[in-house]
Amino acid sequence: MSSITDSADPSHALFEHFVQAQTCKETQQSFAELCRHLQVEPRDYKHFYSKLKEGLNYWKAKDLWQKIDKRVSHADYEQGEACHENKCLVLGAGPCGLRTAIELALLGSRVVVLEKRGSFTRNNVLHLWPYTIKDLHNLGAKKFYGRFCCGSIHHISIRQLQLILLKVALILGVEVHTGVTYEGLLEPTGSAGWKAKVSPKTHAAAAFQFDVFISAGGGRFVPDGFKIKELRGKLAIGITANFVNRRTKEEAQVQEISGVARIYNQQFFRALQSEIGVDLENIVYYKDDTHYFVMTAKKASLLKKGVIKQDFSDADQLLAHSNVNQEALEGYALEAADFSTEHMLPDLEFAKNHAGQADVAMFDFTCMHRAENASLVKEKRGKRLLVGLVGDSLVEPFWPLGTGIARGFLAAFDTAWMVRSWGKGVPPLEVLAERESVYQLLSQTTPENTSKNYNGYSINPTTRYPNLNLSSIKPRQVKHLFCSQDEE
Ligand code: FAD
Repeated sequence: MSSITDSADPSHALFEHFVQAQTCKETQQSFAELCRHLQVEPRDYKHFYSKLKEGLNYWKAKDLWQKIDKRVSHADYEQGEACHENKCLVLGAGPCGLRTAIELALLGSRVVVLEKRGSFTRNNVLHLWPYTIKDLHNLGAKKFYGRFCCGSIHHISIRQLQLILLKVALILGVEVHTGVTYEGLLEPTGSAGWKAKVSPKTHAAAAFQFDVFISAGGGRFVPDGFKIKELRGKLAIGITANFVNRRTKEEAQVQEISGVARIYNQQFFRALQSEIGVDLENIVYYKDDTHYFVMTAKKASLLKKGVIKQDFSDADQLLAHSNVNQEALEGYALEAADFSTEHMLPDLEFAKNHAGQADVAMFDFTCMHRAENASLVKEKRGKRLLVGLVGDSLVEPFWPLGTGIARGFLAAFDTAWMVRSWGKGVPPLEVLAERESVYQLLSQTTPENTSKNYNGYSINPTTRYPNLNLSSIKPRQVKHLFCSQDEE
């Protein structure tokens, strides 16, 4: 097929615009325009993907269809029949919410995602384990983002990852509503099923009735019914900083730092402290859309450099906004970045964050959260609702180790497997027991102890975790996770 034919068809230009879109809004708008032009209706989620493909039957799009078709045709999804009667609400269009939404759509269910933010603005960069790279390649990441995993160390900015996943989700018929805040579950009344309380109140998503609710609302967002374990470690203060990447030759030559911990390079950290007074436990530098640094800093040096104004033993008080000198924080991060790259990055200039300010921030990792369980079932008026947690709301990651996406995607697949069982009519206690058996492994997963056959990865947990015992937890042990209000 010639390029003359391609350019003559306006749908090709619209598709190209969608594929290349660089913001959430542009992606949604170009997608809506493409659908209008092709007269395909995303609400017709069962046939949407095949109709879109029919309308875009040309070489450039075909490349992408080939990849997606391969996934679609996986036996686990039973040609979209496995969950064809299920309706799923996903809270949060972060990477884990979107990754889960994609799997639920592949299983054949109707999927609605709610996202309170109107844009994707996080410059911070996520480390990718080998399996996540393969997974994203298989979803066509390279088509949407040509620079995907070009460098020596594999990573991607949060916003680019969200854009890739948003595009794949839309192609598979997922409804993504941005600027809509989830405010809680509404119990069934009359003949209606489970619904969500949303803001704005009049949004169409308020009428959506669902039997599966996946919470992917990030760090501190945990829905009712889940208990959280607090893991208190020694004080750990993380600093992230993003600098403008002008993509010059000089910048290209600067070596990335894949994670230097103090114990492995004492000399470097001693020099950092004695020469500029910056005292760190570790530092990571990735060259992505920005020059991204994440480091763990010692309290004493932050106090000495005036970043933290006053010492408190309580971490919340210590790192409260009012106790941090933003200018000094910028100086601290800049000096650390400059020193650790041997002054080779010319004209270090902070990139801007969502608020248009220097993108540097300090976070407390002293106290990490982990949900005690990953799933539960609610029942009211004979209507059952399966609830699952994924991503940071399930297990909070320690950013300098970059476990957020790796474990986040594993949980997304495990959750999709649970929804598959639910859709196939497996009794609730068995669904929950199996999900909790798999969840027990999550916090210990590493690239070394998970299967190396990345091409074989599917939502079936046995393809990913060697020596998995799917029934280590028995149905009788999860009775408390089945919350029926229908007893009398
Ligand atoms: P998130 O990416 O946090 O997504 C949750 C989504 O849910 C958000 O888009 C949020 O707006 C939405 N949401 C929350 N509540 C509601 C609601 N009530 N209604 C509707 N939508 C809602 N990891 C690293 O490895 N390195 C980093 O430097 C790093 N920096 C980060 C900076 C910030 C500010 C944050 C929040 C996280 C950062 N992380 C970092 C963590 C990393 O982003 C996550 O591990 C990864 O994105 C997967 O998370 P997730 O999808 O579970 O949650």
